[in-house]
Amino acid sequence: MKVIPTAACRFCGQMIQLDGDCELTQPQAEEKATMTCRCAEAVEYQKKKNRKENALKNVSTLFGENAVPERRISEGITNILRESVEEIYSGELAKVTLNLRGGVKASISQNSKGEINVERTETRKQKLTE
Ligand SMILES: [Zn+2]
Repeated sequence: MKVIPTAACRFCGQMIQLDGDCELTQPQAEEKATMTCRCAEAVEYQKKKNRKENALKNVSTLFGENAVPERRISEGITNILRESVEEIYSGELAKVTLNLRGGVKASISQNSKGEINVERTETRKQKLTE
C-alpha cells in the first residue's frame, strides 16, 4: 500500500502533500509542510529560515570550507560564527565581532530589516623596523 505523505503546517494546520521521499520523521515532515505552506506565518518563517541559511552559507564562503585556502580560518572559530548566526536568528543576540590574529575581523549582525550580515574586514599594516 502506498500512502501519499502529508503533514500539517505548524502555523495554520493545513494538510500539505509532500512530494519526494517519505522517509521523513514526523517533525521533519511538519517542517517540510511548513516550508511549503503559503499562509502568512509560514511565509514569514520561510523568509527567516532562508536568511539564516544564507548567513551560514556566507560564513562558509568568507571564512570556512568554501573560502580560498589562505583565507580559511580555524574550524573552531568558524563554529563560533555559525553558532552566532543561530543565536542572532533566535533573537538573543544582536551582533558579534571577533578579532582574529593577523588583522582579520569577523562580524555577524542583524540589520533593522532583519537581514543577517556576515562581514570580513582585513586590515593589513606593513611596518618595517630596522
Ligand atoms: Zn500554513
